[in-house]
Amino acid sequence: MSDFSSDAVLLRRIEYGDYDYIITFLSETNGKISVIAKNAKKSIRRFQGSLDLFSTMNIQVSFPKKKKNALPVLVNVDLIDPFEKIRTDVEKTGYASYWMEIITFYLEEQKSQSGLFKLLFFSLDALNSGAISKQVINLLFQIRFMSISGFAPDLKNCGVCRMPIDKTRAENSHGKVIFDVKNGRLVCDKCMKRTVINSVRISKGTLKQLAWINENGITKAGRIKFSSLAIKEGETLLQAFIPFHIGREFKSLLFLNRIKREL
Ligand SMILES: [Zn+2]
Repeated sequence: MSDFSSDAVLLRRIEYGDYDYIITFLSETNGKISVIAKNAKKSIRRFQGSLDLFSTMNIQVSFPKKKKNALPVLVNVDLIDPFEKIRTDVEKTGYASYWMEIITFYLEEQKSQSGLFKLLFFSLDALNSGAISKQVINLLFQIRFMSISGFAPDLKNCGVCRMPIDKTRAENSHGKVIFDVKNGRLVCDKCMKRTVINSVRISKGTLKQLAWINENGITKAGRIKFSSLAIKEGETLLQAFIPFHIGREFKSLLFLNRIKREL
């Protein structure tokens, strides 16, 4: 690997010994990358005090020439935006932490993901400024993350018989469509021979709105008005499916759900 500089979001920071941090970034050009920030703990001035969670900065990274297995070294940073309104708001912190956890556990190191970087930056910026409601930006982040990563479920057709969900009756499920979490697909009434154990019920209107934010430019997301039912159903579906698909329980999601109950 050759030395590089790139815009990057700080995903995770771990103390390493008395002086250093190991930091994981999502960089625009080199994907997810873990680097060592030497002396960053001792000297705040070393990196302008900007090595905080969610901060976005331009990073300069150098790869050790002699020790091939050593971590890349963070040489310099130029802060772009600290997004400090996220860190000072417990609910916003909850949302951003959830996105960080998704990216940290899903992505392999050093695979370029510039679409994902752009999505994360846009979402953090909107969350920080309050330009789009927290719940809507959370739906947008999740659904577009799935599209970029290539595991988005088909939200328009029954995953078994391919019948457009619009044309199906949903009498057995009281007007709602069943989403089979395990297989990541919608199941129409006709195909629902047995009860799907791990399932979520979702109305057709919510499915349409989720498909809309997936298909239109992210900058248009602020224009769509979600009903509170659509937000609730969308959250339930996505926050069941993504952790299941990635194959782990998300600590940040437990935290987010707890603070939402308390607020
Ligand atoms: Zn069907």
